[in-house]
Amino acid sequence: MQTYSNMVSGKLVEATDHQEIFNPATGASLGLAPLSQESDVDVAVEAARRAQGEWARVSDQERRAIVSRVAQVLEENAEYLAELITREQGKPLSGFGSRFEMQGCVAWTQVPAALELPPEVVHEDDTRKDVMHRVPLGVVAAIAPWNWPLMIATWQIIPAIRMGNTVVLKPSEYTPIATLEMVRLINQVLPPGVLNTVSGDGRIGAALTSHPDIDKIMFTGSESTGRKIIGASSSNLAPITLELGGNDAAVVLPGTDAGAIAEGLFWGAFLNMGQTCACIKRLYVHDDVYDAVVSALSELARKMPIGDGMNESNLIGPLQNEMQFNKVKELVADAKEQGCNVMEFGQVPEGGYFLPLTLVSEARDGLRLVDEEQFGPALPIIRYHELEEVIASANRLDAALGASVWASDTDYAQTVAAQIEAGTVWINQHGAIHPMVPFGGNKASGYGVEFGVEGLKAVTQPRIISLKK
Ligand code: NDP
Repeated sequence: MQTYSNMVSGKLVEATDHQEIFNPATGASLGLAPLSQESDVDVAVEAARRAQGEWARVSDQERRAIVSRVAQVLEENAEYLAELITREQGKPLSGFGSRFEMQGCVAWTQVPAALELPPEVVHEDDTRKDVMHRVPLGVVAAIAPWNWPLMIATWQIIPAIRMGNTVVLKPSEYTPIATLEMVRLINQVLPPGVLNTVSGDGRIGAALTSHPDIDKIMFTGSESTGRKIIGASSSNLAPITLELGGNDAAVVLPGTDAGAIAEGLFWGAFLNMGQTCACIKRLYVHDDVYDAVVSALSELARKMPIGDGMNESNLIGPLQNEMQFNKVKELVADAKEQGCNVMEFGQVPEGGYFLPLTLVSEARDGLRLVDEEQFGPALPIIRYHELEEVIASANRLDAALGASVWASDTDYAQTVAAQIEAGTVWINQHGAIHPMVPFGGNKASGYGVEFGVEGLKAVTQPRIISLKK
């Protein structure tokens, strides 16, 4: 059985304890991942601290060139890593699956490599000149989730490294192997100590985020863990970028052509089996087009191939873990009990954490499936009549990561979008993130933004050089 290792100071380190990782589609063993101890966190943070000064002194141009080489390594190893993602996380190789995730890793590495954050003259008069420089924060703790394990880790580590920080990354205990392999490969082109890992469960995440020598925390995951991390950061005062998932509403306006939007709605909701922070998790459809939208979505769901993602003809895989599998089943059972119309589609294979694609029509606000983040392939569809009513519904929850408005009249859609409280409101698309466009939540979906120039700023601190004339 293959044993995987953490990376510290550019070297693979053997762990004393391990956990076995299993394929969520087949139950097959994938190998042993390290289970770090708290003392390993100290060693990894120390390694990152030792490397940081020198890394920050590397010229900006050279750091950009090194990050470009990281992108190249990701590109060259994309197929190997995609297969590991499929075996470990479950998303299929094809469609919007693991090859798509690897394309994201490459793009979200190339863009920071190309971006610059030059010093800015913030004030000048006859008496003085004030220039703001952006300097690295130091050692960044990156805590990644299991849904897009490599892409989200890339969002966290690449901007940090690009700007002269060093990183200690903790992958999710559910999906450590592909991440550890990605880190091993990209360490070939990074100086030792710039990117280190610890691997284990939430206790190791807690030890890392509360470590006194951490200068910045990047976190994507649940709201409850996010709150714990805020508490942990009182020991190091590290600023945090918090991406806490959402319960995104999509609003279909009257008069919209159901056929034209069905595919966008479908993948907006079922991308990665719904296990995506910015997926459509509540679909509000005007009475005028309700039946047409439900029928167009049913048509698509009916023909979607479900199964082991290593088979390239499958476009829908299993859920990643038992906790998520049980949570989605429980929310669907509750909706059924509450009198909703539960429609299940697809031939679900035996074994593995497979669930059918599920559309729940005649759903309503207040239902658990609507109010709680299901993070799975079960979409509640709610009928509405008045615009004010649907805007109030879209804004009634604390979660506010993304939202979308769907309409044939895009001018009208923009006036509606402006009334929805969310970090991003898409029009006629959902979850359409881009490496140049800032992304982050409002309200309980977290704070701080990732991507683009704003994302680079988030892993630096301003330093003013003020000259008397
Ligand atoms: P968590 O928030 O527990 O996990 C996210 C990451 O945080 C993992 O690496 C986890 O480690 C780590 N972690 C756990 N506890 C701590 C801690 N005290 N301090 C620091 N790090 C910690 O999410 P779950 O995996 O439990 O999923 C639960 C729900 O969260 C899902 O059903 C979904 O609703 C939401 N979620 C949202 C995501 C998003 O993209 N925004 C991603 C994942 C989940 P470990 O996994 O090893 O315990």
